[in-house]
Amino acid sequence: MNMNQIQSNDQRNSGLSRRAMLGLSAVAVTGVLLAPGVLAAAGKRRVVVWSEGTASKDEDSKKVYPQDINTAVAEGLKPLAGWEIITATLDDPDQGVSDERLQGTDVLICWGHKRHGDVKRELVNRINTRVREEGMGFIGLHSCHFAQPFKKLMGTECSWSEYVADGTSAKIIVKEPNHPICKGVKDFALPKIERYGEPFKVPTPEAVPLDGLYTKPDGQTQPGRMGLCWTVGKGRVFYFTPGHETYNDFFRPEVRLIMCNAVEWAAPKA
Ligand code: ZN
Repeated sequence: MNMNQIQSNDQRNSGLSRRAMLGLSAVAVTGVLLAPGVLAAAGKRRVVVWSEGTASKDEDSKKVYPQDINTAVAEGLKPLAGWEIITATLDDPDQGVSDERLQGTDVLICWGHKRHGDVKRELVNRINTRVREEGMGFIGLHSCHFAQPFKKLMGTECSWSEYVADGTSAKIIVKEPNHPICKGVKDFALPKIERYGEPFKVPTPEAVPLDGLYTKPDGQTQPGRMGLCWTVGKGRVFYFTPGHETYNDFFRPEVRLIMCNAVEWAAPKA
């Protein structure tokens, strides 16, 4: 099974069972018949963590992400209460994001770098529509600045001026401490980061909750934005610069907290 619904969280599972039990009791009392899927989904929002499946295969990155990046990100989302967390990859049926799955998704998180061109145009269009017209949240990670759905949502080139993994480190700076994505987050250091040089050719963001300062191996510093927010149509979009496949960013508590906050922020508002 490739579509690994994260089920190792006992607390989550027991919560689901209780919810299902309560739902069944309600059915018994009211006599209203609901489809099982409706019961299971009641009160739960869904985040799908979607990656292209290369990080767990490539020689250098598989040491860091043997279960691929989607699994590492999904594990970090476990503290989210009331969320169903699903991992998906491009190699799954329907490229991991079927119509039905997408329709029930509140936030889609995307990581990829080598296979952006494999994503079917039709799927890109459906994701775009879900965000713009129906308010689904979209979170693009690192090299997903060139992912087709992200580019379509931004409508610009989405390039950085340089991409350098030369041993550069970075300080991630909480620039907007009152922004929901920064809740509980303090400035922190990433000992290694792929340096993405400004300018980042995207529309002016509505917020840049996370800024950054790179330190190159020669000691020179260079600023670079790390977390950017937009509203696109009815949906919210967040882009996070770190997340190179050979660095363990998605296992770091600070990054995991940012991801949890970003999911809550990007979720459609009732
Ligand atoms: Zn990278």
